[in-house]
Amino acid sequence: MELPFAESYKIKMVEPLRRSTREERIQWIKEAKYNLFNLRSDQVFIDLLTDSGTGAMSDRQWSALMMGDESYAGASSYFNLKESIQKIFGMEYFLPTHQGRAAENVLFSTLVKSGDIVPGNSHFDTTKGHIEFRHGKAVDCTIDEAFVTEMEHPFKGNIDLTKLEKVLSSYPAEKIPMIIVTVTCNTSGGQPVSMKNIREVKEMAVKYGVPVCFDSARFAENAYFIKLREEGYQNKTIKEIVFEMYSYADMMTMSSKKDGIVNMGGFIALRSQQIFRDAAVYNIMFEGFITYGGMSGRDMNALAVGLMESTEFEYLETRIKQIEYLGQKLIEFGIPIQRPIGGHAVFIDAKKFLPSVPKEEYIAQTLAIEVYIEGGIRGVEIGTLLADRDPESRENRYPALELLRLAIPRRVYTNNHMDVIAVALKNVWDRRDNIKTGYKILYEAPIMRHFTVELDKI
Ligand SMILES: *Cc1c(COP(=O)(O)O)cnc(C)c1O
Repeated sequence: MELPFAESYKIKMVEPLRRSTREERIQWIKEAKYNLFNLRSDQVFIDLLTDSGTGAMSDRQWSALMMGDESYAGASSYFNLKESIQKIFGMEYFLPTHQGRAAENVLFSTLVKSGDIVPGNSHFDTTKGHIEFRHGKAVDCTIDEAFVTEMEHPFKGNIDLTKLEKVLSSYPAEKIPMIIVTVTCNTSGGQPVSMKNIREVKEMAVKYGVPVCFDSARFAENAYFIKLREEGYQNKTIKEIVFEMYSYADMMTMSSKKDGIVNMGGFIALRSQQIFRDAAVYNIMFEGFITYGGMSGRDMNALAVGLMESTEFEYLETRIKQIEYLGQKLIEFGIPIQRPIGGHAVFIDAKKFLPSVPKEEYIAQTLAIEVYIEGGIRGVEIGTLLADRDPESRENRYPALELLRLAIPRRVYTNNHMDVIAVALKNVWDRRDNIKTGYKILYEAPIMRHFTVELDKI
C-alpha cells in the first residue's frame, strides 16, 4: 500500500480554540451588525478571514528572532535579510518596509506620476489604490479565462499579450512606468502565472522599453504551480524556479505577511541603483532608515529564514495539498467553487450557492454570515460590499462574481479543521432553499466600506 500524505512538520506550540454554540453566534453576529470584521477573534472558531500575517512561524524563525539586532543603522539582521533576498531573487538592492502596501507607496512615489498607465494582471486593491491615488490608471490585462469560475486552466493568472501590446503600443514609454505581474494573482483567485507567460511579458517589455515589476506576495506558491503544471520544470527545485522567474523582473514589491511567513513586514527589491537611490529618499520619509524601514531587527531575521522555508518544496506541498483537500471535499458535496483550486484560498461561487437572494441584498455576505452561524467559521465577502459604489454615480457596483473567500493561514490549522469547514458548508448547502433574503445597509463609510459597514436583516 502507498503511504498516505502527511504534513512536513510537527507541532511544538499550540493556541487554544473555543467552540461556541449556535445561539451565541446568532447573538454575536447581530451585535457585530452582521459584519464579520466586527467579531472578536475569540468569537471565531476557525478564522479564514485572510492568509495575511496569520501564519505560524517555525522554531528556526523564532530562534532567529532572538538573535535580532536592533541597531538603527547597519544591523546584522538587515544583512541577513539582504543575503536571503539576493539568494532567492537575485536582486542586488533592497529596501525594507512595514508591509506590502508601504512598499507600493515608496516605489510608486518614485515612479508613478499623474496620467501614467500601469498595465498588469488584476492589480491587487492596495496596488490599484496606490496607482489611482497618484492619478494613474491601472489597466487589467488578465486573460479572459480567469473570469469563468468553472473553467479549468492551469495558469489563470496569465497576462493576455494582445491586451498588453495594445496598451504598450498606445502610449509612449514615458507614460508607462512599469508592467505589474502579480504572482500568484490574488484577485482572480490565487491563480498562477506560467514561466512562459512571464518570459513573453518580459520580451514585450524590453521591446517597448518598459520595466517589469512583480507584485510578489505569493511568489513561492506560484513557483510550486509552475513545477507541477509546466512542461520542463518537474525536476527543478522551487528555488531554481523562483530564481528564473525573477530573472525576468526588474523590480519587486513584497508583502512578507504572505509567503514570507511572518506576521508583519514587506520590502522592495530591484536591480537599478538609480531607482534604489530615488526610492531610498521616500523610504526614509515614510518608513524609516534604509537598513530597517519600519521593521524590527528581530522581524527582519525571522523573515530572512521565512523566505528560505517558503521556497522549500515540502512546505509548499503541505500547504497547497491542504487547500486542495478542502476544495475537493466541497466539490464532492456539490458546492460550486472556483476552478482550479488556487494556492491560498478556496472561493465559493455565492450566486450559484444562493440563487434566490437578490444581488441588491449582498449575496456573498449573506453566505458568509450563514457559514459563521453554522460553524463559527469566518470567511470574507468578495462581492458587492467590497466592490463599493461608483465614485461618480454613487450607485452600487455589482461585480460579475459574488464570492465567499476562505483563506487558509500557513501552518495553522489541521485537516480536521478542514473537515469541520467542509461539513459546515454542506449543512448550509442542504438548507440553501430556505435562504431567500439577505441584508440591507444601515451605515457605510464613503470609501472601503466593507471594513466598517453595518447591516441589518431584511
Ligand atoms: C497583501 C497583498 C498586497 C499588500 O500587502 P500588505 O502587506 O497587506 O500591505 C499587495 N499585493 C498583493 C498581491 C497582496 O496579496
